[in-house]
Amino acid sequence: MIRTRKLEIPCPQCGSADVFYSCTPNCCFNHVCGDCGTTFEPATVAAGGSLRGFTPPDPLPDATDPTVECAKCTSTAVYQLEDGGLVCDKLVCGNCGATLTLEITEVAPG
Ligand SMILES: [Zn+2]
Ligand SMILES: [Zn+2]
Repeated sequence: MIRTRKLEIPCPQCGSADVFYSCTPNCCFNHVCGDCGTTFEPATVAAGGSLRGFTPPDPLPDATDPTVECAKCTSTAVYQLEDGGLVCDKLVCGNCGATLTLEITEVAPG
């Protein structure tokens, strides 16, 4: 069984993991770094594959945890894939199963 975990999106400016989602999916995907104040918007690009039979993260992400939209179906149930206990650089959509790669856009240094 393939395991997933909550999204981990480090700050593109300082690398801090202290990043939180400050908006709601029907508005925008603005994230804020708690260390340096940089704001950015993560997005996904379809990686071309799809997966079946993966487990969603436990616990599920909170509303302020990093959130991104699936490039294929616009679901926000997007999780980080785990590969042998290590975090993999691929994401997977919990709704349609598409594998995704992460892109960071709209970076505004704090
Ligand atoms: Zn930062
Ligand atoms: Zn999807």
